[in-house]
Amino acid sequence: MQDISIIIGRYIITMNEKEEIIENGAVVVEKGIIREIGKGNEILDKYKNLAVHIYGDENSAVMPGFINSHTHAAMVLFRGIADDLPLKVWLTEHIWPKESKFLSQEFVFDGTCLACLEMLKSGTTTFNDMYFFTDSIASAVKKMRIGAVIGQGILDFPTPSGKNADEYLKKAQDFAEKYKNDPLVIPAVAPHAIYTCSKETLLKSKELALKNNIPVHIHLSETFQEVEDCIKKNGKRPVVYLNEIGFFEGKITAAHAVWLNDEEIDIMAEREIGVAHCIESNLKLSSGIAPIARLVKKRVRVGMGTDGAASNNNLDILEEISIAAKIQKGITADPTVLNVKTCMKMLTIWPARALGIDKERGSIESGKRADLVVMNLNKPHLQPIYDIYSTIIYSAKSSDIEDVFVNGVPVIVKGKHQFCDEDEIINKANWWAERIKS
Ligand SMILES: [Zn+2]
Repeated sequence: MQDISIIIGRYIITMNEKEEIIENGAVVVEKGIIREIGKGNEILDKYKNLAVHIYGDENSAVMPGFINSHTHAAMVLFRGIADDLPLKVWLTEHIWPKESKFLSQEFVFDGTCLACLEMLKSGTTTFNDMYFFTDSIASAVKKMRIGAVIGQGILDFPTPSGKNADEYLKKAQDFAEKYKNDPLVIPAVAPHAIYTCSKETLLKSKELALKNNIPVHIHLSETFQEVEDCIKKNGKRPVVYLNEIGFFEGKITAAHAVWLNDEEIDIMAEREIGVAHCIESNLKLSSGIAPIARLVKKRVRVGMGTDGAASNNNLDILEEISIAAKIQKGITADPTVLNVKTCMKMLTIWPARALGIDKERGSIESGKRADLVVMNLNKPHLQPIYDIYSTIIYSAKSSDIEDVFVNGVPVIVKGKHQFCDEDEIINKANWWAERIKS
């Protein structure tokens, strides 16, 4: 592996504090870290006597790697298995029975490899996962060379990966210790939801996260039913309930956050809770539409999530943001909400802040990890360019992404994974599908 890489682009979209875009710029990467950013000709001149590897060209846009704020990666193996159903029927009659039959270390490893391949090719360099068999997720992440925040799922009921909450919590603690200083894996704890975890389990999860200084990942107010059930059971709405029991401490990402009233939005802003907006999953399961424009106005850290591919049905974060922007404009009757710059923040620096990883990720700045995406702009549907943010958010497709760097390593080059056999991963997924079908 070369020591120094220089990535050049017509636009370097930094997403730094000043929101700088460097035209005809270059990014210098050394040992996984961004060393400097500047004008392309000056950088090329400065390094001309050194053996460097050059990526990108005068038709490229270079941007921070995208962050997928909420997914269940291994569920790609259930992609398309049960569509057009409400969440409850989908979960209880299809997904949970299939999971109880097929969930295993091998299933999670093979599924996560496929998901990582799909995410890398569509520009995601870090994903926030919630699932089981976390060691298998971590092995897949290392094989595929992507970054991941891996949350051990916590439930009050048994699955093939554990008997009860205490066993899941023990696994979470072991995982947190094992991957404390890993370059690709950040351990997390993921109490599934308020309707699958008791108050005691929720609080134990939070304590475990605080003790280990790791993020918390939970599903919250995904459906109207969840809110109604919570009011019936606890006499209050979900966000108020979690706030009052003392759950909201530390680095928390709440997935979905569809059904929020103004009081709940204020609580989330005050408690600095991150939100993973999963518009396609919410639309497909008819869960509702999250009040993202209102959350953004209150400065809540909103990121985009795909949710699992079983309810999406892909892990394409660029597709997700484009739909999210248009839906918010539609439901608010205000075309100014979720402008293109806000959308770019929702893919990069905001979810990094919610996850507590913004010191290393989420923007192109010297000293940060070199998680980078290079897009080829020399395509009919991307020309002409008046505003590069607009080109990326509204016109680009993930197939326009050519090179993807994780930790400075060029993992995807010209659209191909450099370290794995893509056909083998796809064949493995089909092998699982044959077993699941029969
Ligand atoms: Zn989910």
